[in-house]
Amino acid sequence: MSDDARRNVILVVEDEESYQDALNVGLTVEGFVVVGATNIAQARQLMTSAKPDLVLLDVMLPDGSGIDYCRELYDSTRTPVIMVTARMSEVDVVLGLEIGAADYVTKPFRLRELIARIRAVLRRPLTTDGNDTVSFGDLRIDFIRRTVTRRGEEIELSRKEFDLLALFAFRLGQVVTREVCLDTLWWGLELSDTRTLDTHVKRIRQKIEDDPATPQHLITIRGVGFRLDP
Ligand code: CA
Repeated sequence: MSDDARRNVILVVEDEESYQDALNVGLTVEGFVVVGATNIAQARQLMTSAKPDLVLLDVMLPDGSGIDYCRELYDSTRTPVIMVTARMSEVDVVLGLEIGAADYVTKPFRLRELIARIRAVLRRPLTTDGNDTVSFGDLRIDFIRRTVTRRGEEIELSRKEFDLLALFAFRLGQVVTREVCLDTLWWGLELSDTRTLDTHVKRIRQKIEDDPATPQHLITIRGVGFRLDP
């Protein structure tokens, strides 16, 4: 980040001291201005006084649920929220989308990964109108209504197919690892058992790609995962 770039303000809503400290230091070093709240009441005050560019929101807070507060923020502002959840529980990607979160990370997280997510959310492409839909090529994905249309025609997707496509669309242009796919959608499935995942990717390609054998949107990153390209 260049010196004259406006420094983005991040509101960290977190009641665990170890995470507060790590985030405070880590984000400040990366050039962000960090304001901290340890509960929802404080967060409400800081939304007004500090006008953050992004909110990092823990799910379990002493005076309420981060999920409810995320919904409240989504209804009252369009400040992007990244939910911070315990691994493989509390909130899944689809619930995250339904409550208007821009992204989510699971604890414990790597600071480097979190910062990459924050940067990605802050420069989210213009193809995303609000957080409700993503449009690219001839596709339009509506997260709230859970529909996908191609050239205006609705495509039929199973629940899992939609959830997986939503996970990719959520991180448009970024690689989603196989591990994240399995953690998010098939809890407890062995990482080595990737046939289920591959089958779903194949079915999605048949529905969204002109030529599923040479996909233009849903790309395989060999040995790593997948990337949905606009
Ligand atoms: Ca907590």
